[in-house]
Amino acid sequence: MYKKGENMENKKFNRRRFIKSGIMGLAGTAAGSALLKAGPKSTNLTSVEKENFIYRTLGKTGIKLPIVSMGVMNAENPNLVAAALDSGIILLDTAHGYQKGKNEEMIGDVIKDRKRDSYVLATKVAYSKDRKTGLYPPDKNVQSFEDEFNISLKRLGLDYVDILYIHSFWVRETVFFEPAMKFLEKMKKEGKIRFKGFTAHRNEHEMLDAAVECGIYDVVLTSYNFRQKNKKEIGEAMGRAAKAGIGIVAMKTQAGAYWDKKRQDPINMKAALKWALQNENVHTAIPGYTAFDQLELDLTVMEDLTLTPEEKADLRLDEGKASAGLYCQQCGKCEEQCPSNVDIPTLMRRCMYAYGYKTLSLAHSTIEDLGSHLPCTDCSSCSVKCPNGFDIGQKVQDIIRLKTVPKEFLA
Ligand code: SF4
Ligand code: SF4
Repeated sequence: MYKKGENMENKKFNRRRFIKSGIMGLAGTAAGSALLKAGPKSTNLTSVEKENFIYRTLGKTGIKLPIVSMGVMNAENPNLVAAALDSGIILLDTAHGYQKGKNEEMIGDVIKDRKRDSYVLATKVAYSKDRKTGLYPPDKNVQSFEDEFNISLKRLGLDYVDILYIHSFWVRETVFFEPAMKFLEKMKKEGKIRFKGFTAHRNEHEMLDAAVECGIYDVVLTSYNFRQKNKKEIGEAMGRAAKAGIGIVAMKTQAGAYWDKKRQDPINMKAALKWALQNENVHTAIPGYTAFDQLELDLTVMEDLTLTPEEKADLRLDEGKASAGLYCQQCGKCEEQCPSNVDIPTLMRRCMYAYGYKTLSLAHSTIEDLGSHLPCTDCSSCSVKCPNGFDIGQKVQDIIRLKTVPKEFLA
């Protein structure tokens, strides 16, 4: 799926990056340009440490990574993933559910001719929980984890992944959910994973502390950004987790991508990423990029984490109550308010993905996940109030609008 104008951008990007990577000779030659045109299958460069990048070790896994990795979730262009790897990115982050499996398939195509030790692959499996309690049903076995994961391995064309996360824990008990732990242990024993992890989108600090207490997890993928109200607590918990040897990967560093509701006022992405990475307990971050210029911008972060006075000002760190814009804090304080029991935090997160990151495939899956009827359609006005200034009523309307977009426009 290539977009108009991308070839030109692709060439510009690669030329600049290859200059920085010290392999200008290749990019500047006919062979280099053929390589760029031919796509992922023809590239097979083993990652080498780049002098100008900052590296950190992912806790007790011992994996040394550049501080910027790639969240592949929104990417649809295999050449972009290939360019990221060729530029020195090592960790690719995906999930069983992203783009209904196409994301893993695309990555599989990109990596299939590359040396297995030239990249680190992380994916995720999910298992539905009670959304009120955040708990797994106690009587359920977790065969579905294994079934999902086997499909993921097949799509990726791999015998094993480096990191397997269980998706989205937000209550302490799930960290200790025995069937899930046993599943991870089993996968490790069978050589299908190297390291065990989980992801945390809410209550991040509690989840990090629970991971330390539990002791079986090697890596935690957690939300972390300059707009979070509990960022201090998360930062402190990261310190404790890192001290215990847990590898910490940061996500959602871009905090919704826009300041304003109308999406006219973009967040300074470079500054936001620098802010998260200034915490040395963040071993790497997985910003999602969908274009070559975004990749290039993110790579430049690795050369210097200092926030310039302008960047500091851009982050509005001194403005106590900046507009919530598209960033839902996932605090759950709205949960009990909806008379129709709508899962508002999930809906708001999806809305942020669809509108903030402008990913049509995510918009598409949001609509599908909503099923045939969303109770909000029958509400004359939304009675739910967000204490963090997130405009739930407006976002609900945005989601309803998505439902009227013909499917073919979102494919
Ligand atoms: S919409 Fe508001 S109250 Fe609800 S989870 Fe998001 S930030 Fe919290
Ligand atoms: S619009 Fe109505 S149904 Fe939808 S979240 Fe608001 S109160 Fe609940």
